[in-house]
Amino acid sequence: MNFENNLSFAQSLDLQDPLRKMRDEYLLPPFIYLCGNSLGLQPKVAKEVLNVQLTNWQNFAVEGWFEGESPWMFYHKELKKLMAPIVGAKPTEVCPMNTLTVNLHLLMVSFYQPKLNRFKIIMEAGAFPSDQYAIESQVRFHGYDPREAIIEVKPRDGEYTLRTEDIVTAIETHGSELALVLFGGVNYFTGQWFDMPAITNAGHQVGAMVGFDLAHAAGNVPLALHDWNIDFACWCSYKYQNAGPGGISGIFVHEKHFNDVTLNRFAGWWGYKESTRFKMEKGFVPEPGADGWQLSCTQVMPMALYHASLQLFEKAGFMEPLRSKSKILTEYLYFIINEVNIEIGYEHFKIITPKNEADRGAQVSIIAKSDGKEFFDKLVENHVLGDWREPNVIRLSPVPMYNSFEDIYKTGELLLTLSKSIL
Ligand SMILES: *Cc1c(COP(=O)(O)O)cnc(C)c1O
Repeated sequence: MNFENNLSFAQSLDLQDPLRKMRDEYLLPPFIYLCGNSLGLQPKVAKEVLNVQLTNWQNFAVEGWFEGESPWMFYHKELKKLMAPIVGAKPTEVCPMNTLTVNLHLLMVSFYQPKLNRFKIIMEAGAFPSDQYAIESQVRFHGYDPREAIIEVKPRDGEYTLRTEDIVTAIETHGSELALVLFGGVNYFTGQWFDMPAITNAGHQVGAMVGFDLAHAAGNVPLALHDWNIDFACWCSYKYQNAGPGGISGIFVHEKHFNDVTLNRFAGWWGYKESTRFKMEKGFVPEPGADGWQLSCTQVMPMALYHASLQLFEKAGFMEPLRSKSKILTEYLYFIINEVNIEIGYEHFKIITPKNEADRGAQVSIIAKSDGKEFFDKLVENHVLGDWREPNVIRLSPVPMYNSFEDIYKTGELLLTLSKSIL
C-alpha cells in the first residue's frame, strides 16, 4: 500500500476500516495505548458481566453451580466454543483453566516424558523468563542437568531473530535425543512469529513432542493448531485477548492424544468424567478431551471476563478480519518509523521485528541508536504508552481490535518532535 505520513491520510484509513467500531467496545485510557501485547484493554461490558455473576452468587448461592442462565458447572463449555476459532482447534481440544505458567507445567507433565537417551528439550534462546524457569525446573524434576538437557536456538551473530532453517537444523542435530520441542508462537521480545508448522514437522520427524506457548500469539495471529498437528499449547487471555490482569489461561491438547493412557497427568476432581464426578469415587477417570486436564473447580469470575472478551472477538468476525487490519496497521507503523528516520537523517530507530508479515504479528520492537530509555520515558510523559524491555527495546503494539491509524500517525509525530529535543 502507498502510505502517507499525515493526519488526514491516517484518518481516511480509519474511515475505511471495517473494524473501526470495535474500538467503542473498550474503555480507552487517557493516552495512546500501544501496550496491548502486555495487557489488553478492558471491554466496556466487563463490570456488567462480573455483576451478573455476583448476582448469581447472591441469589443462588451454591445452587449457582446448577442454576441460572449459565450454570457454573457447564460455564467453561461456552468459552470453549469461542476459544476454538481463535487458535484453530476443535472445541473439545481447548479448555480455559488456571494461569499460563501453571498450565505450561501441567502440560509438560504430560508431554515431557524423558526416557534414557531421549531427554532433551529444544527452545528459543531468550524465551520469556517464566518459560525458561518452568522448563529448567521440569528438567531438574526429572533428574537431568539443564545445561545438558536444554538446547537453546540462538540468532546468528549480528542478527536478532531466528532463521527457520537454523531451528530445523538444531532439531535434526539433536534428533533421537529430543523429547520435546517447546517454542513460543510469537517471541515476546522481538515480536518474531515462528514458522510453527515447519517447527512442528521437524520435531515430529525426529520423534519428539511439539508444544507452543502462545502468550503473544493467541488473539494476535491466525493459528491452526489442529491442522498443524501440534501436540499441545497454552496461552494467557490478558494480552491480546483482553480478559483482564491475571486472566484465565487456555490450553490445547490435540485430539490424537485423547485416548493415550501412557501420558502422565496431574489429576484433580474437575478433570474427572463429568457425568459421574459427583459420585466422588476413588480412582481417577478423566473427562475426554482437554477438559480432562482441569484440576480445580471453575474460576467463574475470570472466566466471565474472558467470555465477554471472546464475544467481542466473535463480533469482530474472529481472526480473519482482525488479521487483515493488523497487517496494514503494523505496516503503517513500520512506514511511520521509517519516515521519522528519514527526517532524522539516519536509521536512529532500528526495527528488529521481521518486516515480512508472515513472520510477525502486531508487535514492533525498536532499538534506538542512542537515548532509548529517554525516548521511551518521554513518549510516556507525552501520552503514548508502549513498553520498555531491558536491555534496550521499545515495544509498540498496534492492536487491530482497538488501535487506530491515527494512533500510529500521532506516535510518529511525537517521536519526531522528541528527536529534535533529545538528539
Ligand atoms: C506473558 C507471558 C507469560 C506470563 O505467564 P503467567 O503465568 O501468565 O504470569 C509466560 N510466558 C510467556 C511466553 C509470556 O509471554
